[in-house]
Amino acid sequence: MPQTKQPFVGKEKRFLEEGKYGDNLFITSIDSLFSWARLSSLWPMTFGLACCAIEMMATAAARYDLDRFGAGVMRPSPRQTDVMIVAGTVTMKMADRIKRLYDQMPEPKYVLSMGSCATCGGPYWKHGYHVLKGVDLIVPVDVYVTGCPPRPEALIDGILKIQEKVRKESLIKRKLQERANV
Ligand code: SF4
Repeated sequence: MPQTKQPFVGKEKRFLEEGKYGDNLFITSIDSLFSWARLSSLWPMTFGLACCAIEMMATAAARYDLDRFGAGVMRPSPRQTDVMIVAGTVTMKMADRIKRLYDQMPEPKYVLSMGSCATCGGPYWKHGYHVLKGVDLIVPVDVYVTGCPPRPEALIDGILKIQEKVRKESLIKRKLQERANV
């Protein structure tokens, strides 16, 4: 009787069949792994423009504890950040600076417009000749948070929306898109 060769059964395959890995095994793509890592460690830039910034500070403090969502490491340099929270009134004088700070942030980067002033000029939308009527006129905005000022819960919700966006997007496709646009 000719002997048939048994196919090689690796340790991993055997463990899989025997269920020895239990719940400690998951299979995913590199892209999803990167997205998961990025959304779990968003680094917002710390700068405030007006009263909304007080609520932003409260959000990062102990009571609301933004660290729970991995976004509590506020950085003073745009070169170390991936989220710009525009918290407050964008005056014409500041608009230039905001654009420059945005340009200095490394890709991939996101912008959150916090409050009515940043989104549309707020109380200054009609007679505020010195106020930009929406920060999206100078930088692309990913999430708008309404309110005057928004409460910390609303800002946290905005951060979660950015996390959702990061979760769904492909970093590899984004990089390819950036290269195509250069
Ligand atoms: S939206 Fe209201 S709270 Fe926020 S900066 Fe403008 S005036 Fe101040």
